[in-house]
Amino acid sequence: MPLPPQTATIRTQVSVPLRFADGYTTLARVFSFDGLVDGQENLAFGLGDRAAAVTSASAETVPLVRPHSECLTGDVFGSERCDCGPQLREAVERIADSGGYLLYLRQEGRGIGLYAKIDAYALQDAGLDTYEANLALGHREDERSYLVAAQMLQALGVLRVALLSNNPDKARQLRRFGVTVTERVPTSVHLSAANARYLATKARRGANTLDVPLSAG
Ligand SMILES: [Zn+2]
Repeated sequence: MPLPPQTATIRTQVSVPLRFADGYTTLARVFSFDGLVDGQENLAFGLGDRAAAVTSASAETVPLVRPHSECLTGDVFGSERCDCGPQLREAVERIADSGGYLLYLRQEGRGIGLYAKIDAYALQDAGLDTYEANLALGHREDERSYLVAAQMLQALGVLRVALLSNNPDKARQLRRFGVTVTERVPTSVHLSAANARYLATKARRGANTLDVPLSAG
């Protein structure tokens, strides 16, 4: 039983002003950690009223929290094969507006890694859907774990969250790891010609509670 998660602690916290490509700016408090079980350099971005220094578990309000899985192609290069870039951009602004944390989790390609994700794209171009491609590569459909997200929240003194996500698995896992999810706040659907099939597959497979107009695919 992983409950309660192994204790992680804040390693360093610094303020970082953010400016996105569309000109949106906000201030973030960026946290690194010691003791995360996956050994990855995961970061938490405190935004809005959580952009101040954390000294103790003090805040009264429930923060809006989004665990965002790293997607190099989408987050950095604006790949339209997925909706990660727009999701990240939306999440930062919504969290900054209401106060909370974006947890940037280094689990690329649903946890299979960057090169494997590119391999999976190649298989998708040959006709497999995003889940079938992962299975064909010997991976599970989704290998992501949110245990480190729970560890990060605990280190930040956050025991209750409003979860900004369309993915019920994130809520399930966080609850299993001892985080109280008071509500799940859906994100927008960021549809483009290139990611329509990807989003429709996510919705059809039940991994996401997206309402995707299937005719767009
Ligand atoms: Zn992506």
